[in-house]
Amino acid sequence: MLLLIPGPVTTRPEVKAAMAQDIAPWDAGFRPLYAAVRERVGQLAGDVLDTHAVLPLQGCGHFAIEAAIRSLIPPGGKLLIPMTGSYAERMARLARETGRIVVELAASPVGPVDPESVARALAADPSIGHVGLVYSETSSGLVHDPVAIGRAVHAAERKMLLDAVSAFGALALDLSRHPEIDAAMFTANKCLEGMPGLSFVVARTAAVQAGRGWAGSWSLDLWDILHHGLRDGWGCFRFTPPAQVLAAFRTALELHSAEGGQPARLARYTANARALYDGMRAIGLTPYLRQDVQGPIVMNIHAPHDPAWSLPKFVDALKARGFLISNFYNTDQPSFRVGCIGAVAPDDFVRFVGAVDSALRAMGVVRRAPLRLAA
Ligand SMILES: *Cc1c(COP(=O)(O)O)cnc(C)c1O
Repeated sequence: MLLLIPGPVTTRPEVKAAMAQDIAPWDAGFRPLYAAVRERVGQLAGDVLDTHAVLPLQGCGHFAIEAAIRSLIPPGGKLLIPMTGSYAERMARLARETGRIVVELAASPVGPVDPESVARALAADPSIGHVGLVYSETSSGLVHDPVAIGRAVHAAERKMLLDAVSAFGALALDLSRHPEIDAAMFTANKCLEGMPGLSFVVARTAAVQAGRGWAGSWSLDLWDILHHGLRDGWGCFRFTPPAQVLAAFRTALELHSAEGGQPARLARYTANARALYDGMRAIGLTPYLRQDVQGPIVMNIHAPHDPAWSLPKFVDALKARGFLISNFYNTDQPSFRVGCIGAVAPDDFVRFVGAVDSALRAMGVVRRAPLRLAA
């Protein structure tokens, strides 16, 4: 079964095999494994180990995002969030639950965030200290531009927290060129093609140091994670880490390098997305976004407007054909969602298009056009 979802993704056999061992995470033998992972992640983020801290968290991407909000925005501080979709909404909820103040900035569901709108919102409210941006908005498939938006944030002398969960490893990110980005957050199990259970915040060390006592949570306190590493040496965690997931992640990072790193991974995912986009159109289905704004990570396709259409039945029919897609959608109009990331290649998408065609026929879906196009 291929997982065509935007995480956790299909992994290579070597990654799965790396987990098949018992590991004592406090043993000296384990430390070099984690130390190597930390170094590689720091390189991938723009060779920033001199200026930034690579801070791991046991848990999924939301944990890393919450930890960054708690540790880098002072209690009661204000965060501007371009409302790009459901992951922006999640960031807003995480921030509000920690007592930070969220200022929502309206954004189009079918086009990238306008940097000018960010500049205007920052100019209008000098008490906003940070901008929270979702790099690749997994609900829409749109990729937003941290370089252009970062320029607006930098010009306004504010800071940015970047949700790079469905971007890091495939979309370009060089933190050494982003003085305004206090932190980027991501997980092991999306574009880096590792297993779920491990997330990272790569944060400017000075920003983490400034946030002593802000987190209001021991588990999610980046200052405490940083100081544990500085005191006891990198390679050990404060609390039990998902050791097998780390072992798998080391292998996943080696495979990422062997493939050619971020540019090669982006090229493969872009080819995947093109095969999917063209294939969907060839069988009469309508992708949600225009091709020029469709990102390479995840794609929504309009649901056929036909009485025989049923997303749960469609998902089951695809599973019977060897492909697993999301069993929900977050778009305004009914759609289905397909991930283009993971250890999959354009050929897999060519086969997937055939499976979709066959599943629709088996379901008796005749009309494949949508009721109406996305606004
Ligand atoms: C997957 C994802 C997350 C985090 O999801 P978890 O289930 O907590 O790992 C956050 N932001 C974006 C954009 C994502 O795609």
